[in-house]
Amino acid sequence: MCWEISVLYFGHITSPKSSATAGIDDDLILDNPYLGFLLQKDGENVLVDTGINERFIVDGKAWAGKPAVGGTKYVIEALKNKGLTPDDIDIVIYTHLHNDHAGGCSLFPNALTIFQKDELYNLLNPLPSQKIRSDYDMDVIDELLSLKNICMVDGDGELGNGIKYYKTPGHTLGSMSIYVNTEYGPRIMIGDFCHYTYMLFPQTERIMLADGTVKKITPLPESYGPVFAHNVVYDHYAFYDSYYKLKSLVPKFEPRYFLCGHDAKLLYTGAKNDFV
Ligand SMILES: [Zn+2]
Repeated sequence: MCWEISVLYFGHITSPKSSATAGIDDDLILDNPYLGFLLQKDGENVLVDTGINERFIVDGKAWAGKPAVGGTKYVIEALKNKGLTPDDIDIVIYTHLHNDHAGGCSLFPNALTIFQKDELYNLLNPLPSQKIRSDYDMDVIDELLSLKNICMVDGDGELGNGIKYYKTPGHTLGSMSIYVNTEYGPRIMIGDFCHYTYMLFPQTERIMLADGTVKKITPLPESYGPVFAHNVVYDHYAFYDSYYKLKSLVPKFEPRYFLCGHDAKLLYTGAKNDFV
């Protein structure tokens, strides 16, 4: 049986592409969507990530002082567009607990809430560099831990409903990727392991912006290696290990299998992810 994946828009944050690829495509400004994913099968509703909380957007600015829109009303609206309310969500599973991925956790007090044990450790004990960037919304701690039905996992595994999860640290200590089978084949939601496809496939030549337009981008130099270790990788050793783990999970290493946490094209392609 296949899962149906819907891509949900929870707001966006605006930043130049050059903040990731310094000196390359310096004039390109990206509206990076905050994405969630709704997984549905046999009447079950599973939500991957819950966006940013409105308290974390001050004077219209969020992470790193960048302009942003978002908040719990966006999560509620996105679910409403699918005919759902937060109460209809059976399981919430987190790719990681960054401010823009776990901000709406308190909307789902009754859902089974799944995250990696090491990710909670990272949330409770951010590194100085992570504190400087305000990667985590520390108000999430109390909200998350007051939820009734938490399930902390450690490593790789499979849920009773067939959803698989793989620990893929690098971006954070306890990042994980969520694997499901769909009518299009396997799809893996990798969170911010790579925010955009061009990071996972550095030779990418085109990018789709949040308004649906397509721009040429500069393929990254071969010396960048098989995967671009972007500027929010805290553990490069773990990052490359995770890259090879992800690579081993798909029939062929092609972009369509991977759904990145902020890739605007997904708003148009959905989980089919057939824009290359
Ligand atoms: Zn993140």
